[in-house]
Amino acid sequence: MASPTVTVLASSKAIIDGKITPATIVTDSATGTITNVYTQLLPATSFPAGTIYRDYSPKVLMPGLVDAHVHLNEPGWRTEWEGFETGTRAAAFGGVTTVVDMPLNAIPPTTTVENLKLKVDAARGQCWVDVGFYGGVIPGNEKDLKDLVKEGVRGFKCFLIESGVEEFPAVSSVDIAKAMEELKDQDTVLMFHAEKLPPISMSVGDAVLHGDAPLAPTGPLEAYSTFLASRPPAFETYAVAEIISAAPLAPKLPLHIVHLSAIQCLPMLKEAQEKGVKITAETCFHYLALAAEDIKDGDTRHKCCPPIRERANADGLWDALKDGLIKTVVSDHSPCTPNLKVVGGGDFFQAWGGISTVGLGLSVLWTEGKKRGVDLCQISKWTSEETARQVGLLGKKGRIAIGYDADICVFDPESSFKVTTSEMHFKNKITPYEAKELDGIVCETWLRGKQIYSKDTGFDESTGPLGALLLEKRQTDTVPIATTLGTPDEEIKAIGLNAAASVIEVVQT
Ligand SMILES: [Zn+2]
Repeated sequence: MASPTVTVLASSKAIIDGKITPATIVTDSATGTITNVYTQLLPATSFPAGTIYRDYSPKVLMPGLVDAHVHLNEPGWRTEWEGFETGTRAAAFGGVTTVVDMPLNAIPPTTTVENLKLKVDAARGQCWVDVGFYGGVIPGNEKDLKDLVKEGVRGFKCFLIESGVEEFPAVSSVDIAKAMEELKDQDTVLMFHAEKLPPISMSVGDAVLHGDAPLAPTGPLEAYSTFLASRPPAFETYAVAEIISAAPLAPKLPLHIVHLSAIQCLPMLKEAQEKGVKITAETCFHYLALAAEDIKDGDTRHKCCPPIRERANADGLWDALKDGLIKTVVSDHSPCTPNLKVVGGGDFFQAWGGISTVGLGLSVLWTEGKKRGVDLCQISKWTSEETARQVGLLGKKGRIAIGYDADICVFDPESSFKVTTSEMHFKNKITPYEAKELDGIVCETWLRGKQIYSKDTGFDESTGPLGALLLEKRQTDTVPIATTLGTPDEEIKAIGLNAAASVIEVVQT
């Protein structure tokens, strides 16, 4: 008998265990999980009559993306910049099935358990995809950190330079030491906005994100080159050096650099990793796909911190990804209203720093990556599997495997589209990708065994947002696995604890 909650998704192409293979994926919306994976394209007749069965060949079934860095800005007045409903709708449009929300820009910031609860209450019932939360480290809140871990934050973020919002101040090295002491034995990750003013800089103040330049501007304020020169790679290398030097305070605590831009940091990162320092880094779609040479003066849609650098810098970031030195790519979706973005011939030093990308990233990365010899399996690893690992969700998210959540993106790499406001589901329709032609279209998004978005029919407004709030403890990638042999009629043969073999090749008999 067909189960009404079981859906079978099949294709001649799926990303399973890091390879493209034919696959037939059995999902169950009652548990929200993948109950079987066959690495062959089985016909509908392999399943009980009446089973919901979709063959997507030759489109690619990929794990839903895990965007480990977004700013959804709710609750508080900056909800006019973004919100849970619009931000997660934009995510679902782009095959993203999990986002992890940063602790700042919402009011209050996620720096205490009480504040986390306010955010969770605001998110409830509004999210089209699953949402996790980061906590924030600010001066003086070190005694809140362990409680935030207990309440399910997926990691912590702090700033070594002014954040741009007054309620989320930067930390000093003393604050970092206190936070590391609190977190040294916790299962979490401490993340850094790694820009810091070197001591000899001609700093004119701290309001660097939307105010005065930290280095005295040396040209017109509308010129991108002036802005770029004001946030030199030295800000990043100085910060990364400080983070690495603090690592011995908590050798077991994973450290993470968010939105790494400057390639000058890469040798430092490599050396630290080789010495056994637990430090990782992410970069963003915009540092890989956009280049300073192409940014027109006054086009403040491109302002973010650290800045988008020259094309040669992007080349170096791609190489670092291919080498595994950088492991993840995220959006750092950080929108604002048009007036604050100073859209239209604006002053880069007045404009809000942040780029809207959530939901466009897969196509952005595919468009640029395929020119560079990158395949979809690599992209999937950087945007699903490794981001899930980063936020302690691997074992549940980021792979197509038995026991994992049935979060699937149906991707057509052969189609392309032009980005217009109808492809921007985030609240404020401002993005540097506007009017760009992108390759690869997300045709459907499935969340825990249910279709939540389809290119043809849109969002399922009748069910509304089905996203869950992810407040369980971080988990590692050791998960119960089931071994499947032969056809669906044969029973599951073995259950063990080994994530490395969570999908077994089907042996035809
Ligand atoms: Zn950010």
